[in-house]
Amino acid sequence: MNHQTELARLSGTVYRDGRHIPSTSNRRKAVLDPATARQIGEFADVDPHEVDETVESANRAQQEWWSLSALERAEALHKVAERTRHLSPAVAELLTRETGKPYKESADELMWTATAIDYYAELGRHSMGTVLGPSVAGQLHYTLKEPMGTVVVILPANYPILLFIWEAAAALAAGNSVIVKPSEWATLTTLKFMEVFDGLPAGLVQCLTGGGDVGARLVSHAGTHMVGFTGSINTGRAIARACADQFKPYLIEASGNDAFIVMPSAPIATAARAATFAAFFNCGQVCTSGERFFVHEDVYDEFLRLFVAEASRLRIGSGLDQVDVGPMEHAGERARVEKVLERAVEQGAEIVLGGARPDDLPEHLSEGFFFEPTILVNVTPEMEILQAEIFGPLAPIVKVSSLDEAIALTNRSDFGLGATIYTKDAEEIFRATNEIVSGMVWVNAPILDNDAGPFGGRKMSGVGRQLGAEGLETFRHTKLVLVDPAASEHDFWWFPYPDAESWKNETAS
Ligand code: NAD
Repeated sequence: MNHQTELARLSGTVYRDGRHIPSTSNRRKAVLDPATARQIGEFADVDPHEVDETVESANRAQQEWWSLSALERAEALHKVAERTRHLSPAVAELLTRETGKPYKESADELMWTATAIDYYAELGRHSMGTVLGPSVAGQLHYTLKEPMGTVVVILPANYPILLFIWEAAAALAAGNSVIVKPSEWATLTTLKFMEVFDGLPAGLVQCLTGGGDVGARLVSHAGTHMVGFTGSINTGRAIARACADQFKPYLIEASGNDAFIVMPSAPIATAARAATFAAFFNCGQVCTSGERFFVHEDVYDEFLRLFVAEASRLRIGSGLDQVDVGPMEHAGERARVEKVLERAVEQGAEIVLGGARPDDLPEHLSEGFFFEPTILVNVTPEMEILQAEIFGPLAPIVKVSSLDEAIALTNRSDFGLGATIYTKDAEEIFRATNEIVSGMVWVNAPILDNDAGPFGGRKMSGVGRQLGAEGLETFRHTKLVLVDPAASEHDFWWFPYPDAESWKNETAS
């Protein structure tokens, strides 16, 4: 099937009860290719009754799923991983067409998706609780791990498949059902990806399309039991508040403005390549992008020269061509980033590379949402560009005179997602990994993830963890069970209380 037929087939559908069906809603939004700004499809803003019916199916399917053995669930999830690998080229192509990222990045995203599913397939059956040392001899005290029920997953567009699966694979392995509300800018790709779940009980994984109102309805629905959210702080806050009304558990993965520190002992050419990748990977639209570069004065000039040289070699264009950097997700995001840049320049920052929309692209890309990789100097910690999240291809550099200063500036932020340091000095590594207030620290290894290691932030970057064993616990309840196999009399604390243990009034004589 060519991509046009495929996009037309997916347009206006939802994935419910194991198949794509047309939404009943006639509220539709256009889907644009960010490289060309041309419409490639549309999606529906679903009706309230579709939310209600989907939640009902999800709860039914969850009972069926939880009644299987842990081994059967593991085998079914491995098949989902296999199917992910099989469908990867088709999904990756749509991912590039809908979000603009270079095809290699889309294909990598699908590959990481498959490994995360395989990881959770096994982890889900590894342990269903713990046996405790009993507090009463002869008894059996243990915990049981149980699913939450129906988990709602709400997502942004920058890694729509990977971020979905980091939560969905863990939620499924824990015995839950899942309803995903994809980003408005990655809806058709997510709908296509739903085909990997075709072999699971109908209704176990479902996809409802639309904007924030659909997400809000799922969050506050009495039939959903947990929310996994990835996106901006404001939405995360609204979701946390809505969950609080029902004491519904939530995972919030929000924004970051990660520091990237370069110290004199670092291999500076490598650090410059790494900085280029950290700043401009996925056009800077990564929650863990390098967004605040703190470079030691002893290597500042050399680093800047090499960073500019590396970044100026990046090829910009359609993600389906041989390029390194594609367009931004949509026109609104580019306009927002342009404002951040304008304000930084007003406040005294100087552009040493980029700073504009590219003007040398082929005619058919002339309306695309491209922006040049941009490097800024003369940046000071007070500037707004260092306070807020950039989430675009801008790299502001600050010269520092010591590790103390770099760490203090790193921690001078409302966010606490990740941070990178380039150094070969053991003491600096030790200090940075201990003193930086964040969920993750990378030493000479920016942006890497590990399915087996917890991912998440501190401060305004979020609450809770995905990935790793902690990421499975996020989607499980713990039940404490205490068993007295002999059903004995618990005289050590039951009625009637012995007179000998009642209060003695020592002051009465
Ligand atoms: P956003 O908050 O605008 O939207 C995210 C999702 O929330 C969308 O699907 C949207 O429709 C939905 N939504 C909006 N209002 C809602 C409401 N009231 N109730 C329920 N759902 C609602 O975020 P965005 O701009 O699409 O994404 C970019 C942000 O995501 C950046 O800040 C980035 O740092 C962050 N992000 C964080 C991580 C992480 O793991 N910490 C990963 C990727 C992206």
